[in-house]
Amino acid sequence: MENDTIKKGNQYIMNSYARFPIVFDRGEKVYLYDDKGKKYLDFVAGIAVNCLGYANQEFIDAINEQLKKLNHVSNLYWIEPAVEVAEKLAKYSGLDQVFYCNSGAEAVEAAIKLSRIYSQKNKSEECYEIISMNQSFHGRTMGALSLTGQEKYHNNLKPLLSGVNRAQINDLSSLQAQITENTSAIIIEPIQGEGGINPVDQEYLEEVRKICDKKDIVLIFDEVQTGIGRTGELFGFQKYGVVPDIVTCAKGLGNGIPIGAIVAKKKFSVEFTPGTHASTFGGNGIACSAAKVVLDQLMEKGLLQSIKKRGEHLANKLSELKDKFNIIKDVRGIGLIQGIELTIPVSDIVGACMEKGLLLVPSGANVIRFVPPLIITDEQIDEGISILESVLEEI
Ligand code: PMP
Repeated sequence: MENDTIKKGNQYIMNSYARFPIVFDRGEKVYLYDDKGKKYLDFVAGIAVNCLGYANQEFIDAINEQLKKLNHVSNLYWIEPAVEVAEKLAKYSGLDQVFYCNSGAEAVEAAIKLSRIYSQKNKSEECYEIISMNQSFHGRTMGALSLTGQEKYHNNLKPLLSGVNRAQINDLSSLQAQITENTSAIIIEPIQGEGGINPVDQEYLEEVRKICDKKDIVLIFDEVQTGIGRTGELFGFQKYGVVPDIVTCAKGLGNGIPIGAIVAKKKFSVEFTPGTHASTFGGNGIACSAAKVVLDQLMEKGLLQSIKKRGEHLANKLSELKDKFNIIKDVRGIGLIQGIELTIPVSDIVGACMEKGLLLVPSGANVIRFVPPLIITDEQIDEGISILESVLEEI
């Protein structure tokens, strides 16, 4: 609590990732209520997690049913929802096999291990290098942290994993300069989420795919933030039509129940044989019953189609704000992961919006990120934008 973001007068003095002095009590659809009963429109969604919003009845029922039936078995055995979700993830991604874990960072760790095993078995013992991007974010466990291309996360934690090289996103010559005969994998976020909402260029991604094919380098897309419907496709890569060898996901997959996964092409996934890698809780019955509802809603109940429209609406509204306020430098994103870059630090704006009942989250110092629940309506988008507009007018 002593590290909380503090309030001075009407302003919040934000301490980067510190907590705001607010205690949330309950949620309903896209709204949260604090312990004093104040209502907030939520454009944060647990940072791209609560895709079905709050108190979704199908979600509650599915978890309750699974809880009554069977909550967990060891990975020495199968459990029905884990099989079903794996089949759906493979079917809808066009990839082949799934490995379950419990978070985004764990999914990245699994991707690191799988690509290293593949390369060391099929290329050479020395083939363990991984190229990640400047400004990327891949999580906080030591392997994922080593890939994360932002120095501020590395403070006092060195030495990191060896063999990690960094390239500039959307710059092919910068990437080529890092590739050696020992490059095992390249990891890219189709849209950098923590790094400022930076979408990757189409041509760049296509070229990276060709390079990886030619040199037998494993192409990993980290879709922990962009996956599970956020872009209007199940995975962001489907927007680009560029297929990775391994894709990570977590966040939205469980709608707030911890679950992560990698989905991989069989050529690579076969390298995970029983005992190669494992997690006690991976594929847990409750987590998978949650994921099953999420995938059903997205893929079978029409949610995915509506995200495309809501995303366009949000992007248009943000562009209108850009036309009106010259402190907004740029609007970027795909679907319901959007960002506005400002010429000034955004923390005061985020604090002022919160006062007026709108939750927003920065992405770096100058970007406000918009990652609302995927069930948001156009009217709710308008409601949030008008709060933001009134705050911008006061600046
Ligand atoms: N990769 C990406 C792209 C992320 O955005 C995040 C979380 N912000 C992670 C990995 C780490 O996920 P987790 O916090 O669940 O470990």
